[in-house]
Formats: sequence, structure tokens, C-alpha cells
Amino acid sequence: MPSMTPATERDIAAAEAHSAHNYHPLPVVIASAEGAWMTDVEGRRYLDLLAGYSALNFGHGNRRLIDAAKAQLERVTLTSRAFHHDRFAEFCAELAALCGKDMVLPMNTGAEAIETAVKTARKWGYRVKGVPDGKAKIVVADNNFHGRTTTIISFSTDPEARADYGPYTPGFEIVPYGDLAALSAAVDEHTVAVLLEPIQGEAGVLVPPAGYLAGVRRLTAERNVLFIADEIQAGLGRTGRTFACEHEGVEPDVYVLGKALGGGVVPVSAVVASSEVLGVFRPGEHGSTFGGNPLACAVALEVIAILRTGEYQERAAELGEHLHRELGLLVGGGAVEAVRGRGLWAGIDIAPAVGSGREVSERLLERGVLVKDTHGATIRIAPPLVISKGDLDWGLDQLRAVLAG
Ligand SMILES: *Cc1c(COP(=O)(O)O)cnc(C)c1O
Repeated sequence: MPSMTPATERDIAAAEAHSAHNYHPLPVVIASAEGAWMTDVEGRRYLDLLAGYSALNFGHGNRRLIDAAKAQLERVTLTSRAFHHDRFAEFCAELAALCGKDMVLPMNTGAEAIETAVKTARKWGYRVKGVPDGKAKIVVADNNFHGRTTTIISFSTDPEARADYGPYTPGFEIVPYGDLAALSAAVDEHTVAVLLEPIQGEAGVLVPPAGYLAGVRRLTAERNVLFIADEIQAGLGRTGRTFACEHEGVEPDVYVLGKALGGGVVPVSAVVASSEVLGVFRPGEHGSTFGGNPLACAVALEVIAILRTGEYQERAAELGEHLHRELGLLVGGGAVEAVRGRGLWAGIDIAPAVGSGREVSERLLERGVLVKDTHGATIRIAPPLVISKGDLDWGLDQLRAVLAG
């Protein structure tokens, strides 16, 4: 375990005493942050190579986002959807345009947006496609991560995420990720949607085989099935494009967005699609008290404006190429078994001899670098896209030092 001062130890013990133990955080207590750097309660600085699982794509304390939030805080923060407010129409129009669609349904968290996409697909299936009532099927991939609600964990293949939460919601079929033939076999006349992450983040940054997403697009179009892309973690600049689906020239029927959409300031999520699809909802059939609130819209509008410049997508592409070139050199040296990813996003499988992902994360913490392990042997690198090349190189130096033992 990394060495801890008494103050840090006290904070952690208090958190353990009074919060449910559904997380196992690294032993560091953050007090402030700026750009790609975080500072703990002792004044020690850490390079953030996690970026809140991509919620912080534009960095901690991003000036434009903080200013947008502050200005909106002084005007109006919440109306509920019982009334219109003056940031709503602009937010929906701008987000729809960013996605090349014409309709938006705003929610708050990623899981809520996935739930919304599931409800959208089922309703579309019954009202538009003509699936018999109660028969709608949604095809998903193994090793998926789409959130934590009861319905979503019903189609998870991760025992930790699922155990003891039954009875499970029916209506989902799970096929191997990246296997187009298996997907094709699973799609039948009752199938309303295929729901996939274009890159599986929590699974360890798994990039599907080339041609897979394009194949899914072809297959779903041919069979009158909605292609729902969960771009909650992969989207909004992370991979070097606005959307990860773009790498295969694919436009899904439904985008599910979250995380970076709220700029690391407020939770903002959304389902974005055509009016033929999202037009299935009538008043009272779905909703959220906080969804599309003025503060959320103001921050997300600034996020969209930042994305419109293309600056961060370009940074992610360029720095990502550098990152993957450097990480590629580690493979075969004994400490690293494989590296995957795209843009400023990488999953690194650590050789068992070096230690577990958790142990590597703790050693990096001692050297001033914050990462998170996933599935035992993998660490994930996803810095804020504002990171400088110098800082990224320094972080890579620390990684090399830890891997060298
Ligand atoms: C984080 C995540 C979610 C869930 O988002 P929450 O805001 O945590 O509910 C869903 N899908 C993907 C791909 C994610 O990375």
C-alpha cells in the first residue's frame, strides 16, 4: 500500500465508516484540480490519467465551462419540464445538429439515457415496426457496460455487476462482441434494436475488429432494426473523432451520450435520434425532473461549442498516435501483454509477474499518476484531452518506471 499521512488515513477511514462499500478507491483524497492535474489534501499533485472515465474530457476547471455554469447559476437553474426555459431549444437543436439528427431527449446520467434508449426502441418496435405486444427483443454484446440499473445489469455478463439483483428484466439476447455472424443469427422478426459500445471501455478498451461496426450498420438497416450506439464513454472527442462510430464511417440510428456532455461539471445525458424514432413519445410517457435543466443545458451548450471547433478531437488524434506508439514499444518486453485503444484512450494488460492492475495503479499513485484498473490485470489510460505532450510523456515515464519494477 502507498504511504499515507494521518490526515489522509482519517479521511479514508471516515469515508469507509459512513459510505456503502460499492467502490474501492485508491488511497488518495483530492481537494482541488485544474487541467490534467489534481491536488490532494496534503498538497501533493497527481497527473489525472482517468479523467472521470471520460467525463472530464475538457479538463478540470475548464474556464469556458466554469464561466458558462457560473453565468447560468445567476439566472435560473431549474424549471422542471412543466415549463419551457430559454436554454432548452438551443441545447436540443445544437446537440441534434452535432449528431446529424433532428431530435433529442435529455436525461441526467448515462444509465438513465440507456434506459431511455431501451424504452424508445421498444416503443418504436410496437408502434412503428409492428412487433407483437410484449415480444420486443434487444440484442447486446457480452462484456458490455451500459450502467447500473436493474434492467441494464439484467443484460450484463459481469457476475459482480449482476449477482443478487434478480429477478432480471427479460427481452435481451447477448452475443459475442465483434462477431457479426452471431449478431446476424440473433436478430429475428421481434428484434427492435442492437445496442453496442463502439469501443468497450469498462471491458478494457476493446476495439472491435475492423468492419464490425459497418457490418452492424448494414445488417440493422437491412432488417429494420435500430442501431443504438452507446457513445457515453467513447464519444465526444476521446478517440480523435466526435463519435467513435465515425472511424468506420457509421452513423447509428440512436446515439446515447453522457459523461463529457456535462463537462465534468453537472451530469448531462441524452438520447439523440431522428424524429421518426424519438417521435414515438407522447406527453406523460417518459420524463425526468432534472433532465434538460437550464444549468445542464448551459454547460452542455458550451461543451458542444468546444467540440464544434474540432480542436480537442485533433489533439486526441495526434497525442493518441504518440501514446499508442509509446505503449506499443512496451509490448513484448515481458511487463505488458497487450495494448488496445484509439485516440487518447488505452487499455494495457499487465503481465501477472509485474502485479495486478490494482498494484500497478497504487505504484503509479506513489509516483504522482492516477489511473484505474479494470478486470484484474488491465489498467486504463484516458487523460483529459487538454493534457500537454510534456505531461503525457512524464506520465509514460512513470509507467515505464513502475513496469520496470
Ligand atoms: C459510464 C457509462 C455508462 C453509465 O453512465 P452513468 O452516468 O455512470 O450512469 C453507460 N455506458 C457506458 C459506455 C459508460 O462508460
